[in-house]
Amino acid sequence: SSGSIGHALSGGLGMCLAQRFTGEVYDVFVMLGDGEMQEGQVWEAAMSAAHHKARHLIAIVDRNGFQLDGEVDDVIGIEPLDEKWRAFGWEVHVIDGHNIAEVTETLRRVKADETRDKPVCIIAKTVKGKGVSYMETEPGWHLGYLDPEDAKRAIAEIEAMEI
Ligand SMILES: [Mg+2]
Repeated sequence: SSGSIGHALSGGLGMCLAQRFTGEVYDVFVMLGDGEMQEGQVWEAAMSAAHHKARHLIAIVDRNGFQLDGEVDDVIGIEPLDEKWRAFGWEVHVIDGHNIAEVTETLRRVKADETRDKPVCIIAKTVKGKGVSYMETEPGWHLGYLDPEDAKRAIAEIEAMEI
């Protein structure tokens, strides 16, 4: 992640391109919020990554439908998100971000594909606050204060989840 919203993808691309100077080979993972899809910086980096065939760059978009100011679609709609990433030259996978088997299998397949010549975007569909009844889809918890009793309840509910 990074400080100013939208800048992590550019940073990740820079780390990927640095491999061409150092000779090292590694994957770079960048986590992005869906609200970040409204930032021009993201799309500049996306276009540049495809141009440079940054195959070791893997962006994971947390598609939870919410951002600081409320629902993403009420602020600035971002769909069709998968088509946008494909149009920018990326390989795209749309997955259930709460299905750990699907997450790990997608990452395994991406890692195993040595013929790919483009960056990868994994759009992980998620529920904001998943598993905590009073937080699920509540945008107020984006910056909400968690008092000790709230924390105890949240931990108990998460521990009771079936994964
Ligand atoms: Mg979000």
